[in-house]
Amino acid sequence: MDVKAVQSYLSSLNLPQYRQKQILKNYFSGHYATFLDMTDLPKDLRLDLEKNFSLLSVKESKIIIDTDTQKALLTLKDNLAIESVLMDYDDWLTACLSSQVGCPLNCAFCATGKMGFMRNLTAEEIVDQILYWKNILSNPNKPPFLKGGARRAEDLKRLVFMGMGEPFLNWDNLLVTLKIIKENLNIGSRKISISTAGIIPKIYEFADLNTEINLAISLHAPDQATRQKIMPIAREYHFDDLIKSLNYYTAHTRRQLFLEYALIDGINDSELHLNKLITLLKSNRLFYLNLIPLNPVRGGLNSSSKINLFSDTFNKNHLNYSLRRSLGQSTNSACGQLIVGN
Ligand code: SF4
Repeated sequence: MDVKAVQSYLSSLNLPQYRQKQILKNYFSGHYATFLDMTDLPKDLRLDLEKNFSLLSVKESKIIIDTDTQKALLTLKDNLAIESVLMDYDDWLTACLSSQVGCPLNCAFCATGKMGFMRNLTAEEIVDQILYWKNILSNPNKPPFLKGGARRAEDLKRLVFMGMGEPFLNWDNLLVTLKIIKENLNIGSRKISISTAGIIPKIYEFADLNTEINLAISLHAPDQATRQKIMPIAREYHFDDLIKSLNYYTAHTRRQLFLEYALIDGINDSELHLNKLITLLKSNRLFYLNLIPLNPVRGGLNSSSKINLFSDTFNKNHLNYSLRRSLGQSTNSACGQLIVGN
Protein backbone atom coordinates (compact mmCIF):
# COMPACT_ATOMS: atom_id res chain seq x y z
CA MET A 1 0.00 0.00 0.00
CA ASP A 2 1.25 3.47 -0.75
CA VAL A 3 1.09 4.55 2.89
CA LYS A 4 1.81 8.24 2.28
CA ALA A 5 -0.83 8.53 -0.46
CA VAL A 6 -3.47 6.77 1.63
CA GLN A 7 -2.62 8.90 4.67
CA SER A 8 -2.90 12.15 2.77
CA TYR A 9 -6.18 10.98 1.20
CA LEU A 10 -7.57 10.14 4.63
CA SER A 11 -6.46 13.55 5.94
CA SER A 12 -8.27 15.23 3.06
CA LEU A 13 -11.46 13.44 4.17
CA ASN A 14 -11.05 14.93 7.66
CA LEU A 15 -11.46 11.55 9.26
CA PRO A 16 -10.52 11.19 12.93
CA GLN A 17 -6.88 10.23 13.57
CA TYR A 18 -7.81 6.82 14.94
CA ARG A 19 -9.12 5.76 11.52
CA GLN A 20 -5.68 6.23 9.96
CA LYS A 21 -4.11 4.20 12.75
CA GLN A 22 -6.74 1.49 12.36
CA ILE A 23 -6.16 1.20 8.59
CA LEU A 24 -2.36 1.08 9.00
CA LYS A 25 -2.68 -1.55 11.71
CA ASN A 26 -4.95 -3.63 9.49
CA TYR A 27 -2.57 -3.27 6.54
CA PHE A 28 0.55 -4.30 8.46
CA SER A 29 -1.23 -7.23 10.14
CA GLY A 30 -1.29 -8.91 6.73
CA HIS A 31 -4.70 -10.32 7.54
CA TYR A 32 -6.45 -8.42 4.75
CA ALA A 33 -6.15 -8.89 0.98
CA THR A 34 -8.29 -5.84 0.07
CA PHE A 35 -9.79 -2.80 1.80
CA LEU A 36 -13.19 -4.45 1.34
CA ASP A 37 -12.15 -7.14 3.83
CA MET A 38 -11.66 -4.56 6.59
CA THR A 39 -15.10 -5.01 8.08
CA ASP A 40 -14.18 -2.91 11.11
CA LEU A 41 -14.37 0.16 8.81
CA PRO A 42 -17.58 1.87 7.64
CA LYS A 43 -18.74 0.35 4.35
CA ASP A 44 -18.56 3.64 2.40
CA LEU A 45 -14.94 4.14 3.45
CA ARG A 46 -14.03 0.59 2.44
CA LEU A 47 -15.56 1.06 -1.00
CA ASP A 48 -13.94 4.45 -1.39
CA LEU A 49 -10.46 3.19 -0.49
CA GLU A 50 -10.81 0.12 -2.71
CA LYS A 51 -11.83 2.36 -5.65
CA ASN A 52 -8.85 4.68 -5.23
CA PHE A 53 -6.02 2.46 -3.98
CA SER A 54 -4.70 -1.10 -3.97
CA LEU A 55 -4.06 -2.57 -0.55
CA LEU A 56 -1.20 -4.67 -1.96
CA SER A 57 1.01 -3.49 -4.82
CA VAL A 58 1.79 -7.12 -5.78
CA LYS A 59 -0.79 -9.47 -7.22
CA GLU A 60 -0.51 -13.26 -7.22
CA SER A 61 -0.43 -14.69 -10.76
CA LYS A 62 0.66 -18.19 -9.82
CA ILE A 63 1.71 -20.14 -6.76
CA ILE A 64 3.71 -23.36 -6.69
CA ILE A 65 3.50 -25.44 -3.54
CA ASP A 66 6.29 -27.84 -2.59
CA THR A 67 7.02 -29.88 0.55
CA ASP A 68 8.77 -27.07 2.34
CA THR A 69 8.54 -24.06 0.03
CA GLN A 70 5.88 -22.00 -1.68
CA LYS A 71 6.90 -19.86 -4.64
CA ALA A 72 4.66 -17.05 -5.86
CA LEU A 73 4.81 -15.28 -9.18
CA LEU A 74 3.74 -11.73 -8.32
CA THR A 75 2.67 -9.18 -10.91
CA LEU A 76 3.42 -5.52 -10.30
CA LYS A 77 1.32 -2.51 -11.31
CA ASP A 78 3.36 -1.99 -14.51
CA ASN A 79 2.82 -5.69 -15.42
CA LEU A 80 6.41 -6.68 -14.72
CA ALA A 81 6.70 -9.68 -12.45
CA ILE A 82 8.90 -11.04 -9.69
CA GLU A 83 9.13 -14.23 -7.70
CA SER A 84 9.00 -14.43 -3.93
CA VAL A 85 9.46 -17.55 -1.82
CA LEU A 86 8.22 -18.74 1.57
CA MET A 87 10.33 -21.42 3.23
CA ASP A 88 9.30 -23.75 6.03
CA TYR A 89 12.15 -24.50 8.45
CA ASP A 90 9.85 -26.45 10.82
CA ASP A 91 10.20 -24.09 13.80
CA TRP A 92 9.63 -20.91 11.80
CA LEU A 93 8.85 -19.59 8.33
CA THR A 94 11.23 -17.43 6.32
CA ALA A 95 10.26 -15.17 3.41
CA CYS A 96 12.88 -14.78 0.69
CA LEU A 97 12.33 -11.33 -0.79
CA SER A 98 13.20 -9.90 -4.19
CA SER A 99 14.65 -6.40 -4.34
CA GLN A 100 14.83 -5.85 -8.12
CA VAL A 101 13.00 -7.02 -11.23
CA GLY A 102 15.76 -9.17 -12.73
CA CYS A 103 19.36 -8.37 -11.83
CA PRO A 104 22.15 -6.50 -13.63
CA LEU A 105 25.00 -8.62 -12.18
CA ASN A 106 24.60 -11.78 -14.27
CA CYS A 107 26.40 -14.29 -12.05
CA ALA A 108 27.09 -17.45 -14.08
CA PHE A 109 25.29 -19.77 -11.63
CA CYS A 110 22.09 -17.73 -11.33
CA ALA A 111 18.88 -17.84 -13.37
CA THR A 112 17.81 -14.33 -12.32
CA GLY A 113 20.93 -12.83 -13.89
CA LYS A 114 19.88 -14.34 -17.26
CA MET A 115 16.72 -12.18 -17.21
CA GLY A 116 18.68 -8.95 -17.41
CA PHE A 117 17.67 -5.98 -15.29
CA MET A 118 14.31 -4.20 -15.59
CA ARG A 119 14.06 -1.93 -12.56
CA ASN A 120 14.42 -1.55 -8.82
CA LEU A 121 11.48 -2.51 -6.65
CA THR A 122 9.96 0.24 -4.53
CA ALA A 123 9.95 -0.11 -0.75
CA GLU A 124 6.20 -0.63 -1.03
CA GLU A 125 6.69 -3.57 -3.41
CA ILE A 126 9.30 -5.18 -1.14
CA VAL A 127 7.19 -4.77 2.01
CA ASP A 128 4.10 -6.02 0.18
CA GLN A 129 5.86 -9.34 -0.54
CA ILE A 130 5.96 -9.86 3.23
CA LEU A 131 2.31 -8.84 3.64
CA TYR A 132 1.32 -11.05 0.71
CA TRP A 133 2.81 -14.07 2.52
CA LYS A 134 1.22 -13.06 5.81
CA ASN A 135 -2.10 -12.86 3.99
CA ILE A 136 -1.63 -16.33 2.50
CA LEU A 137 -0.93 -17.66 5.99
CA SER A 138 -4.00 -15.90 7.42
CA ASN A 139 -6.35 -17.28 4.81
CA PRO A 140 -7.81 -20.68 5.77
CA ASN A 141 -8.76 -21.35 2.12
CA LYS A 142 -5.21 -21.05 0.79
CA PRO A 143 -3.30 -24.33 0.38
CA PRO A 144 -0.85 -25.28 3.15
CA PHE A 145 2.66 -26.59 2.58
CA LEU A 146 2.62 -30.14 1.23
CA LYS A 147 4.11 -31.45 4.44
CA GLY A 148 1.06 -29.98 6.17
CA GLY A 149 0.80 -28.38 9.58
CA ALA A 150 -1.15 -25.28 10.48
CA ARG A 151 0.73 -22.05 9.89
CA ARG A 152 -0.25 -18.55 10.94
CA ALA A 153 0.90 -15.10 9.81
CA GLU A 154 2.76 -14.83 13.14
CA ASP A 155 4.93 -17.86 12.19
CA LEU A 156 6.64 -15.74 9.55
CA LYS A 157 9.58 -14.80 11.74
CA ARG A 158 12.54 -14.35 9.42
CA LEU A 159 13.29 -12.41 6.26
CA VAL A 160 16.13 -12.89 3.81
CA PHE A 161 16.94 -10.50 0.98
CA MET A 162 18.17 -13.31 -1.27
CA GLY A 163 15.51 -13.36 -3.97
CA MET A 164 15.78 -11.61 -7.32
CA GLY A 165 18.24 -8.75 -7.56
CA GLU A 166 21.14 -7.18 -5.69
CA PRO A 167 19.72 -5.36 -2.63
CA PHE A 168 22.74 -3.04 -2.29
CA LEU A 169 22.07 -1.69 -5.80
CA ASN A 170 18.63 -0.65 -4.57
CA TRP A 171 20.10 0.99 -1.48
CA ASP A 172 17.68 3.88 -0.85
CA ASN A 173 14.59 1.70 -1.14
CA LEU A 174 16.27 -0.99 0.95
CA LEU A 175 16.80 1.49 3.79
CA VAL A 176 13.18 2.66 3.62
CA THR A 177 12.03 -0.99 3.61
CA LEU A 178 14.12 -1.81 6.70
CA LYS A 179 12.68 1.23 8.50
CA ILE A 180 9.11 0.18 7.66
CA ILE A 181 9.80 -3.38 8.87
CA LYS A 182 11.34 -2.11 12.10
CA GLU A 183 8.46 0.24 12.86
CA ASN A 184 5.52 -1.88 11.80
CA LEU A 185 6.25 -5.58 11.58
CA ASN A 186 7.15 -7.60 14.59
CA ILE A 187 10.37 -8.99 13.09
CA GLY A 188 13.60 -8.10 14.89
CA SER A 189 16.79 -7.03 13.09
CA ARG A 190 18.61 -10.23 14.10
CA LYS A 191 16.00 -12.21 12.16
CA ILE A 192 16.76 -10.35 8.93
CA SER A 193 19.60 -11.23 6.53
CA ILE A 194 20.78 -9.31 3.51
CA SER A 195 22.89 -10.95 0.86
CA THR A 196 25.14 -9.00 -1.47
CA ALA A 197 27.35 -10.06 -4.36
CA GLY A 198 29.93 -7.60 -3.01
CA ILE A 199 29.09 -3.95 -3.70
CA ILE A 200 32.07 -2.70 -1.70
CA PRO A 201 31.07 0.96 -1.03
CA LYS A 202 27.74 -0.23 0.38
CA ILE A 203 29.44 -2.86 2.59
CA TYR A 204 31.27 0.04 4.28
CA GLU A 205 28.06 2.07 4.56
CA PHE A 206 26.18 -0.92 5.91
CA ALA A 207 28.91 -1.53 8.51
CA ASP A 208 28.66 2.11 9.57
CA LEU A 209 24.89 1.75 10.11
CA ASN A 210 25.75 -0.55 13.01
CA THR A 211 22.55 -2.49 12.74
CA GLU A 212 21.96 -6.00 14.04
CA ILE A 213 20.80 -7.16 10.62
CA ASN A 214 22.88 -10.09 9.33
CA LEU A 215 25.07 -9.64 6.30
CA ALA A 216 25.87 -12.45 3.86
CA ILE A 217 28.35 -12.22 0.99
CA SER A 218 27.93 -14.28 -2.16
CA LEU A 219 31.61 -15.15 -2.27
CA HIS A 220 31.70 -18.39 -4.32
CA ALA A 221 35.46 -18.16 -4.93
CA PRO A 222 38.53 -17.78 -2.70
CA ASP A 223 40.53 -15.67 -5.18
CA GLN A 224 40.16 -12.98 -7.85
CA ALA A 225 40.84 -15.20 -10.90
CA THR A 226 38.14 -17.73 -10.01
CA ARG A 227 35.66 -15.12 -8.85
CA GLN A 228 35.78 -13.05 -12.00
CA LYS A 229 35.13 -16.17 -14.10
CA ILE A 230 31.70 -16.64 -12.51
CA MET A 231 30.82 -13.20 -11.10
CA PRO A 232 31.26 -10.25 -13.50
CA ILE A 233 30.97 -7.84 -10.52
CA ALA A 234 34.47 -9.03 -9.47
CA ARG A 235 35.89 -7.10 -12.43
CA GLU A 236 34.61 -3.90 -10.84
CA TYR A 237 35.38 -4.81 -7.23
CA HIS A 238 38.62 -6.76 -6.78
CA PHE A 239 38.68 -9.75 -4.43
CA ASP A 240 41.38 -8.23 -2.19
CA ASP A 241 39.37 -5.01 -1.78
CA LEU A 242 36.28 -7.07 -1.03
CA ILE A 243 38.06 -8.96 1.77
CA LYS A 244 39.35 -5.63 3.12
CA SER A 245 35.77 -4.34 3.30
CA LEU A 246 34.64 -7.54 5.04
CA ASN A 247 37.38 -7.17 7.64
CA TYR A 248 36.25 -3.58 8.16
CA TYR A 249 32.68 -4.83 8.66
CA THR A 250 33.63 -7.41 11.30
CA ALA A 251 36.05 -5.06 13.10
CA HIS A 252 33.44 -2.30 13.17
CA THR A 253 30.34 -4.33 14.06
CA ARG A 254 31.94 -7.31 15.88
CA ARG A 255 29.26 -9.38 14.19
CA GLN A 256 29.62 -12.69 12.43
CA LEU A 257 29.76 -12.36 8.65
CA PHE A 258 28.32 -15.10 6.46
CA LEU A 259 30.22 -16.15 3.34
CA GLU A 260 28.14 -18.07 0.82
CA TYR A 261 30.03 -20.64 -1.23
CA ALA A 262 28.17 -22.74 -3.78
CA LEU A 263 30.43 -25.62 -4.78
CA ILE A 264 30.62 -25.79 -8.59
CA ASP A 265 32.12 -28.69 -10.48
CA GLY A 266 35.51 -27.83 -12.02
CA ILE A 267 35.23 -24.15 -11.13
CA ASN A 268 35.82 -23.54 -7.42
CA ASP A 269 36.24 -27.06 -5.99
CA SER A 270 39.96 -27.88 -6.42
CA GLU A 271 42.41 -28.59 -3.61
CA LEU A 272 43.95 -25.18 -4.20
CA HIS A 273 40.53 -23.53 -3.74
CA LEU A 274 39.99 -25.55 -0.59
CA ASN A 275 43.33 -24.48 0.88
CA LYS A 276 42.72 -20.83 0.03
CA LEU A 277 39.30 -21.03 1.62
CA ILE A 278 40.80 -22.49 4.80
CA THR A 279 43.37 -19.67 4.94
CA LEU A 280 40.60 -17.12 4.47
CA LEU A 281 38.44 -18.59 7.23
CA LYS A 282 41.41 -18.77 9.61
CA SER A 283 42.23 -15.12 8.92
CA ASN A 284 39.10 -13.82 10.67
CA ARG A 285 37.25 -15.74 13.37
CA LEU A 286 34.05 -13.81 12.55
CA PHE A 287 33.91 -15.22 9.02
CA TYR A 288 31.33 -18.01 8.90
CA LEU A 289 31.10 -20.12 5.76
CA ASN A 290 27.83 -21.44 4.38
CA LEU A 291 28.78 -24.27 2.06
CA ILE A 292 25.98 -24.76 -0.47
CA PRO A 293 25.40 -27.55 -2.97
CA LEU A 294 24.89 -25.66 -6.25
CA ASN A 295 21.25 -25.53 -7.20
CA PRO A 296 20.78 -26.64 -10.80
CA VAL A 297 20.00 -23.89 -13.29
CA ARG A 298 18.96 -24.73 -16.84
CA GLY A 299 21.96 -24.68 -19.22
CA GLY A 300 24.16 -23.69 -16.32
CA LEU A 301 26.98 -25.09 -14.23
CA ASN A 302 27.03 -28.39 -12.35
CA SER A 303 27.10 -29.11 -8.67
CA SER A 304 30.44 -30.48 -7.38
CA SER A 305 30.73 -33.98 -5.96
CA LYS A 306 33.42 -32.81 -3.52
CA ILE A 307 31.08 -31.35 -0.93
CA ASN A 308 31.91 -34.08 1.62
CA LEU A 309 35.64 -33.60 1.09
CA PHE A 310 35.25 -29.86 1.74
CA SER A 311 33.09 -30.32 4.83
CA ASP A 312 35.34 -33.07 6.28
CA THR A 313 38.39 -30.84 5.85
CA PHE A 314 36.59 -27.91 7.51
CA ASN A 315 35.66 -30.19 10.41
CA LYS A 316 39.25 -31.33 10.83
CA ASN A 317 40.40 -27.72 10.88
CA HIS A 318 37.67 -26.72 13.38
CA LEU A 319 36.42 -23.95 11.10
CA ASN A 320 33.18 -22.00 11.43
CA TYR A 321 30.95 -23.35 8.71
CA SER A 322 27.75 -25.18 7.97
CA LEU A 323 26.47 -27.23 5.11
CA ARG A 324 23.39 -25.31 4.12
CA ARG A 325 20.10 -27.07 3.65
CA SER A 326 18.69 -26.11 0.27
CA LEU A 327 14.91 -25.87 0.08
CA GLY A 328 12.77 -25.78 -3.04
CA GLN A 329 15.11 -27.20 -5.70
CA SER A 330 12.42 -29.29 -7.40
CA THR A 331 10.20 -26.25 -8.01
CA ASN A 332 13.09 -23.92 -8.96
CA SER A 333 12.50 -21.96 -5.77
CA ALA A 334 16.00 -22.33 -4.34
CA CYS A 335 18.88 -19.84 -4.32
CA GLY A 336 19.84 -18.70 -7.81
CA GLN A 337 16.86 -20.37 -9.46
CA LEU A 338 14.35 -17.51 -9.50
CA ILE A 339 13.43 -16.32 -12.98
CA VAL A 340 10.43 -14.81 -14.72
CA GLY A 341 9.58 -15.32 -18.37
CA ASN A 342 11.59 -18.47 -19.12
S1 SF4 B 1 23.24 -14.33 -7.66
FE1 SF4 B 1 22.25 -12.46 -6.89
S2 SF4 B 1 23.61 -10.84 -7.65
FE2 SF4 B 1 24.13 -12.66 -8.87
S3 SF4 B 1 22.81 -12.49 -10.73
FE3 SF4 B 1 21.69 -13.72 -9.18
S4 SF4 B 1 20.38 -12.25 -8.14
FE4 SF4 B 1 21.99 -11.08 -9.17
